[in-house]
Amino acid sequence: MNLGAHMSIAGGVHRALERGLSAGCNVVQIFTKNQTRWSSPPLKDEDVEKFLKLKLKFFSVFAHASYLINLASPDNELYLKSVNNLTEELRRCQALGINMIILHPGFHKGSGEKEGIRRIARGIKDVYNHAVLDDVEILLETTSGQGTALGSRFEHLRDIIADLPDDYKIGACLDTCHIFSAGYDIRDESSYSRTWIEFDLKIGLSRLKAIHLNDSKKDLGSARDRHEHIGKGKIGLSGFRLLVTDARFRLVPMSLETPKGPDLKEDRINLSVLRSLRFGNH
Ligand code: MN
Ligand code: MN
Ligand code: ZN
Repeated sequence: MNLGAHMSIAGGVHRALERGLSAGCNVVQIFTKNQTRWSSPPLKDEDVEKFLKLKLKFFSVFAHASYLINLASPDNELYLKSVNNLTEELRRCQALGINMIILHPGFHKGSGEKEGIRRIARGIKDVYNHAVLDDVEILLETTSGQGTALGSRFEHLRDIIADLPDDYKIGACLDTCHIFSAGYDIRDESSYSRTWIEFDLKIGLSRLKAIHLNDSKKDLGSARDRHEHIGKGKIGLSGFRLLVTDARFRLVPMSLETPKGPDLKEDRINLSVLRSLRFGNH
């Protein structure tokens, strides 16, 4: 199965995989460092060793970049900090044998969409010039479009990718809550298929390397990013049934990013809902 959840690395990176196993995940997403701080202590060798061993038990383990990063920032200092931080995170991915890192495109902060997109592409080029990246792919994530966030239109991702050299490995991560609050419906068969046709036309299905499974507390087109448990939000079970039974995505890892407590009970419930949707007894 290609289903799992984001897991905390509190206590060491390997702890995320232990948590994933205990919740029945075949997929785990992690932050490679504290996502609320620019600097973090280096990874501990013994944690990395345990991580690499445990990782073999999963279908897919990938990373999510820090929320502090803003490659679209018109502020040079923040831009440079972002490039350096993302470079450091890619190195951590390499050390952990992780080959995909999900990145929010960024906030243009009033400089405009066009300039923001140009900055993001430049930022990715700067990062690629700093790090040997043949084995780590950046996945641009679709966003809700809150404030000046880029990524709420598939065209934004298309334009960033178009600005990069052809030989760069750049993928995409689709977040169900984000696209829904950005106005892309997936609740019934016809809206679901229209949304994917548009994704394919603008970005290309072959770029889709990961999916975030989150229901949405907010309405279609609200531009508000509030994750809800699967089936409990405005998307509802039908949209998730279409997604987890779609044969095109059987090998695309899917991760929850829904609210939860330390005992991971909510993850277990959400995963069992998804499995029952897939196997048709829900
Ligand atoms: Mn994200
Ligand atoms: Mn997400
Ligand atoms: Zn979100």
